[in-house]
Amino acid sequence: MSTGRIYNFNAGPAALPLPVLEKIQSELLDFGGSGMSIMEISHRSALFEGVINDAISRCRRLLHVGDAYEILFLQGGASTQFAMIPMNLLPRGRSADYVNTGAWATKAIREVRIQGKTLTIAASSEDRNFAYIPQNIRFSPDAAYVHITSNNTIKGTQWAGFPDTGGIPLIADMSSDIMSRPFDISPFGLVYAGAQKNIGPAGVCMVIIRKDMLERVPEELPTMLRYTTYAEKNSLYNTPPSMAIYAVGLVLEWLEDTIGGLDAMAELNEKKAGTLYAAMDASDFYRPTADMDSRSRMNVTFRLPSEELEDRFVAEALAHGFGGLKGHRSVGGCRASIYNATGMDAVTALTEFMAEFEQKNG
Ligand code: PMP
Repeated sequence: MSTGRIYNFNAGPAALPLPVLEKIQSELLDFGGSGMSIMEISHRSALFEGVINDAISRCRRLLHVGDAYEILFLQGGASTQFAMIPMNLLPRGRSADYVNTGAWATKAIREVRIQGKTLTIAASSEDRNFAYIPQNIRFSPDAAYVHITSNNTIKGTQWAGFPDTGGIPLIADMSSDIMSRPFDISPFGLVYAGAQKNIGPAGVCMVIIRKDMLERVPEELPTMLRYTTYAEKNSLYNTPPSMAIYAVGLVLEWLEDTIGGLDAMAELNEKKAGTLYAAMDASDFYRPTADMDSRSRMNVTFRLPSEELEDRFVAEALAHGFGGLKGHRSVGGCRASIYNATGMDAVTALTEFMAEFEQKNG
């Protein structure tokens, strides 16, 4: 820890790979021999075009996404996607299926209702405080799309595999697990992710959209709220969040060239989560909150025997160099977010600290 950096378990914005931060630092004053920072160059320059196209190519290679899809960079966070998806892809007179697995899914559902559009809650895990991912869901055969949240950042649950929708385009909020594991893009009509957990800093949202979905976009939508605007102009209709896109590109470069792709990343993530859950399963002191078959590999949520002990745990952990372990303010408890950039070293050190804390307080 000679860099003075702590073990970062923040839920988002979250840890970035150290080599990415170092590269940003080394290029900050003079990007690509331009004599300017990336923040100071035109988004119309060949240099920036290289940056955005490289990020898109890397995303395509990492996720095996072919020409049938567009890869877009938008602003307004994943939260704006909650509204843009029904605006663009849910025609009046049709209905969409939503699966409610927690606070973010609930917010996505609310945006459909605000627009006065029709939806069906195809499944929900609200009956048990969102501690699980619903299985064997029967989707409406005529749904315009099916919306799911692949990883539930607050409740610490994650879809182990994606549901069979029988050909209805699947739409997923992958904000908190994009690029953490490989998946087959072909059932998806659209995938979106705020960058600030697994792929970069805040300020940009990645959208992967199948080209046939663009045919649904109504003409009367405001320009900046239409997917077609971004698809037609390579996300350069207006000034994009250039610094954030550049950082996303560097994270994807790290994933490809240093980690070795998403199979290798998934294996590492499996090992990290497996180590943490195994330590908790072997103890009566730490209690994971999600059902075993629905546990997230990204956000490990757990309780201690009392709220007082939880407060002490979070405070002492911080004093020992472990940051971000407090659960989301809406649910309390503890949460260790172990996204791609939080390494096995951090997880090992945390499990050791947890064992010591249990010994003193258990
Ligand atoms: N979806 C999920 C799964 C999230 O975890 C978050 C943010 N924590 C959001 C959506 C909202 O993202 P944003 O802040 O980029 O709007």
